[in-house]
Amino acid sequence: MNEGIPHTSNSDVERDDAARVGGASNRDASYHRHYIQQATRWIEQVLPFSLLLLLIFIRQHLQGFFIIIWISAVMFKSNDIIRKQTSLKGEKKTVVLMCYSLIFMVHVVVVRWWYWNDNLLHPMIMVPPKAVPPFWHAVFIIMVNDILVRQAAMVLKCVLLIYYKNSKAHNFRRQGQMLTVVEYWLLLYRAVLPAPVWYRFFLNKEYGGLFSSLMTGLYLTFKLTSIVEKVQFFIASIKALSQKEVHYGAYATSELVIAEGDMCAICQEKMRSPIRLCCKHLFCEDCVSEWFERERTCPLCRALVKPTDLVSFADGSTSLLFQLF
Ligand SMILES: [Zn+2]
Ligand SMILES: [Zn+2]
Repeated sequence: MNEGIPHTSNSDVERDDAARVGGASNRDASYHRHYIQQATRWIEQVLPFSLLLLLIFIRQHLQGFFIIIWISAVMFKSNDIIRKQTSLKGEKKTVVLMCYSLIFMVHVVVVRWWYWNDNLLHPMIMVPPKAVPPFWHAVFIIMVNDILVRQAAMVLKCVLLIYYKNSKAHNFRRQGQMLTVVEYWLLLYRAVLPAPVWYRFFLNKEYGGLFSSLMTGLYLTFKLTSIVEKVQFFIASIKALSQKEVHYGAYATSELVIAEGDMCAICQEKMRSPIRLCCKHLFCEDCVSEWFERERTCPLCRALVKPTDLVSFADGSTSLLFQLF
């Protein structure tokens, strides 16, 4: 404090230092506060302007925005419909399913016909567009294809539902496995779908041959790693088809069922094709496979029964995330 006075005690010096450090940090704090105020004011000024630019952008691409919002909405709704129909199991109506698949099909065809151009069609068969697409065109092409492919796959899912509804065996476990295979095939195809468009986009000679080749190479490397993963999932889902045994237990003998008391704890009725889990609890096959669509443990004792494996799409759902890259 009073630096002129000699013989200050040690504690005085320490307090002095502390005060000086405190002053510095105060200055820092006020500087930061000032900086944050400036930044906030800057954002306040920029925000309305960017909103205006966004409105202009939407106005310039009005039809594109409209079509993307419309086909996404139809796809989201269709996903709900298919999940609901799948959960009905034996009670679903063939006529209703046929109507839905017809509507989905007509929707895909009409949108395709409305947007009939090669830039949209070529990437579907892995042919890059002829000209380098501007960035927003590339995004548009990829989004429309990504949504329409899912909508078309929903027609296939409807057909599967109709088939298993009318098959004599009423094997809804197999139906779930088939739905899962279709969804993994779809995820794989959708992962490949943007590749031709971005390939053409990156391979733009305007940036210089070396740079564009480097960018394209890097993109294709990234793409390849994600595709390898998707292929593995697809193969795993096909392998699951050939498993006759349920992978979380085995069919129980009739003696076992009688010994355990012939009642399923899930549906509270007589066992239908009972399954014995590794924790020795018995349940109907349909009940327990429905349970394991969401859970991994036994409904009674909470023992871990189902190992982490493939995510199941047995409920008929379709991944709603957009595959843009
Ligand atoms: Zn049951
Ligand atoms: Zn158990």
